Amino acid sequence: MNLLIMGAPGTGKGTMSNIITKEFEVVHVSTGDMLRASIANGSPVGLEAQNYMTSGKLVPDSIIHDIIVERLGQKDMDAGFLMDGYPRTLEQAKDLSLILDEVGKKIDLVINLYVDDEVLKERITGRRLCKKCGAIYHTKNSPAKVEGICDVCGSELYTRKDDTLESLVTRLNEYYGNTKPVLDYYKEQNLVVEINADQAVEAVFAEVAKAIESVKHD
Ligand SMILES: [Zn+2]
Repeated sequence: MNLLIMGAPGTGKGTMSNIITKEFEVVHVSTGDMLRASIANGSPVGLEAQNYMTSGKLVPDSIIHDIIVERLGQKDMDAGFLMDGYPRTLEQAKDLSLILDEVGKKIDLVINLYVDDEVLKERITGRRLCKKCGAIYHTKNSPAKVEGICDVCGSELYTRKDDTLESLVTRLNEYYGNTKPVLDYYKEQNLVVEINADQAVEAVFAEVAKAIESVKHD
């Protein structure tokens, strides 16, 4: 069973990916992980990718393509995978279809986590992190006992540079601009399940699990 997961910043995609991977015993596949593994293996495409990364350049689609071909062809993929953070554009989505054809696999389900923009804005801009221990707070949903001070270690809390409203709006616009065509592409193939991610993690997972069970085959 092969899954794709999509979701804007702040929808809890990382958390959900971890739970799905554990509960359904599929392999978590992200472009970041694939790149790192490919570099660590010293494979030719890995070395090529590394050249781009060390010079601070974006790794081009053609190299990402080769890395995905390499990864999806490996033996552990027979257990099924959960792909995260890819494809980001329609071109990449079409390319992924070709790759999957080549390796004799297909996507069974695309999980789209959605949260209203206003809620995302509140989630993200209220986030506070501890400088020292990394504990995460939220000014509204899980505030520190003393404002600005970590409950755990007493250090000062701060707001991440990316967690401003302005930065979030930019990231969201970029995300929706690229993602809408990708979602439409998979909707045409009847693969998308829309999941309301503005709920407790357990409730979100319950919906996700139901959708996965409905496409599961062994
Ligand atoms: Zn702390």
